[in-house]
Amino acid sequence: MNEKGLLVVISGPSGVGKGTVVKELLSRRDDLRLSVSATTREIREGEKDGVNYHYMTEKEFFDIKAEGGFIEFAEYCQNYYGTLKKEVYNLIDQGINVILEIEVKGAVNVRREHPEGVFIYILPPSFDELRARLKGRGTEADGVIEERLDKAKWEITQLDKYNYIVVNNDVSKAVDTVSSIIDAEKARMERKIEYVKENLI
Ligand code: 5GP
Repeated sequence: MNEKGLLVVISGPSGVGKGTVVKELLSRRDDLRLSVSATTREIREGEKDGVNYHYMTEKEFFDIKAEGGFIEFAEYCQNYYGTLKKEVYNLIDQGINVILEIEVKGAVNVRREHPEGVFIYILPPSFDELRARLKGRGTEADGVIEERLDKAKWEITQLDKYNYIVVNNDVSKAVDTVSSIIDAEKARMERKIEYVKENLI
């Protein structure tokens, strides 16, 4: 029997750089894939349909929901986001580790279904730094930035829903830490026991 892939959930406030961390992680490790979520948010400049998200209308989104196509979904700043079953379960069954980059409410729902997953929250060094990064990114209007910062303050009260906290002071170090967490989790006794029974006993 194949050892199952790990379900790795990464969350963090908007602007913390989790996209960069995940991108770097994917380029370093070929045993990882990113689950591409569905969203009703407008596509940003530089983003690609099918790569960053599957962009869709609310009707398309809710049709998928009605068909039971989501592992979880959530509303975030007036847009809907959802993790598609077809992006995740086949890969995990093939032994490939899958990353979900999702917000807190979605992560809590995934954890309920999949307590065996690994839940990682990426923190900024400070709120001032987070505001500066959001402004510097220039993809959101000022009002939206404040809304996203408020959301971040609430999310930080929910850290106990996660197994690991990684502070993103330096992208390369944050990637090292997340990568080490994945290696350590893969080596946990309860994940290896089937392998040991089949191959060594
Ligand atoms: P953004 O609009 O900046 O791409 O994403 C906004 C928030 O939605 C981020 O916190 C991101 O992690 C989260 N998100 C992206 N995809 C999903 C998803 O499939 N489900 C949930 N619950 N959140 C998601």
